[in-house]
Amino acid sequence: MRVADVVVIGGGAIGASTAFHLTTLGVRDVLLLERRHLAAGATGKSGALVRMHYTNDSESRLALESLKVFRDFDAIVGGACGFEAVGFVQLVGAEYRDALRRNVARQQRLGVDTREISLDEVRALLPGVELNGVGAAAYEPGSGFADPTATAYAFAGAAVRAGATVQTHCEALRIVTEGGRVTAVETSAGRVATRAVVVAAGAWAQTLLTPLGLDWGLAPYRIQVAIFRWPAGFTHRHPAIIDATQKSWFRPEGAAATLIGVELGSAHADPEKYDEPVDAAYVAGCRAALATRFPAFEDAPMRGGWAGMIMMSPDGRPIIERVPSVDGLWVMAGDSGTSFKTSPAIGRCLAEWIVRGAPVTADLAPFSSRRFAEGRPWHDTDHYGRERLTVSR
Ligand SMILES: Cc1cc2nc3c(=O)[nH]c(=O)nc-3n(C[C@H](O)[C@H](O)[C@H](O)COP(=O)(O)OP(=O)(O)OC[C@H]3O[C@@H](n4cnc5c(N)ncnc54)[C@H](O)[C@@H]3O)c2cc1C
Repeated sequence: MRVADVVVIGGGAIGASTAFHLTTLGVRDVLLLERRHLAAGATGKSGALVRMHYTNDSESRLALESLKVFRDFDAIVGGACGFEAVGFVQLVGAEYRDALRRNVARQQRLGVDTREISLDEVRALLPGVELNGVGAAAYEPGSGFADPTATAYAFAGAAVRAGATVQTHCEALRIVTEGGRVTAVETSAGRVATRAVVVAAGAWAQTLLTPLGLDWGLAPYRIQVAIFRWPAGFTHRHPAIIDATQKSWFRPEGAAATLIGVELGSAHADPEKYDEPVDAAYVAGCRAALATRFPAFEDAPMRGGWAGMIMMSPDGRPIIERVPSVDGLWVMAGDSGTSFKTSPAIGRCLAEWIVRGAPVTADLAPFSSRRFAEGRPWHDTDHYGRERLTVSR
């Protein structure tokens, strides 16, 4: 029987980052299992915004620690993650101006390069923008977006160079336990004996968790994006933007297009048989949201789109923990459509937890599943209208 020190299940950004960081902490016999190909899940479909603006410290801190990696990726990991620091603008309605100010102040205390900007400054940053309904804005000059697939490939490649094994087209079928502790993983290619397993299986995680009695109310959702070629006369490579007034986000895609996601009633779906192409009605909604901000996009050629699967947790925040009831089991589940940008730090924290006994890079206590068991789901006082969006960003 094959033996591994740690088995990581899932070849997305989280699993690949975890495998890489395990090798940096000296674990040589790391096995990363992926049932399809690397970045086959949410990662390969991600909009991959890299922004620090959250409405709580815990997620901002993970994003900031991750930004340090994205910015200096070749030196830290090796290879390219496609990070482009086009800047990031957060737009909110006037009624959330005070909340935005408190969030910016919080982020500044953490060391984030961010500030509130006036609507005139927004107009200068975004030529041609219409700001109806917008009352306040924050700006992060050093944020932007990355290439999520390149990121996963690079993390996995670096892990392999350090001695890890990446086995694609190999499915983890069951996590085997004896006396309450992990002893092996049963895979489509046979059994692997191990005392440490990380579940980073995205929208597919529940089939591994249910037999272990783990049910946190996670739900898989189908999330879409659409791409529009810039209309005639639109030449400004704009920053990444979250427009809370329209529940939308967008960012440049390539040299002359914009990729957008909008909350238009995201649907609960079966990750084993979801439709990968984008829906026509969704494209129309994206065009409307984009044209509300940039009227020129009424006449923008549509260039495609796609759908991917995320896993929502009941409060829209991930569960990252060492599972108390199963010795040797760590999970990152319920990514809630917002965990690409935090994947470098989450992977490092999980590796630290396994090797050193606790996460060092960031405090992961707020991400524990205990919050559900204890009836105190995540709540941010300074949110922008809704606590739990299902639009990935
Ligand atoms: C359209 C869209 C836009 C998004 N935009 C953003 C954004 O702008 N910013 C942001 O931060 N996040 C965004 N996200 C969310 C982000 O992509 C995810 O949170 C992140 O990629 C999750 O990575 P992961 O590694 O946890 O999961 P995944 O990337 O889903 O990886 C899980 C992997 O596990 C594999 N797997 C599952 N079960 C098994 C098994 N039993 N055995 C072996 N392998 C298995 C799957 O095939 C998959 O490859 C977006 C997501 C989508 C879909």
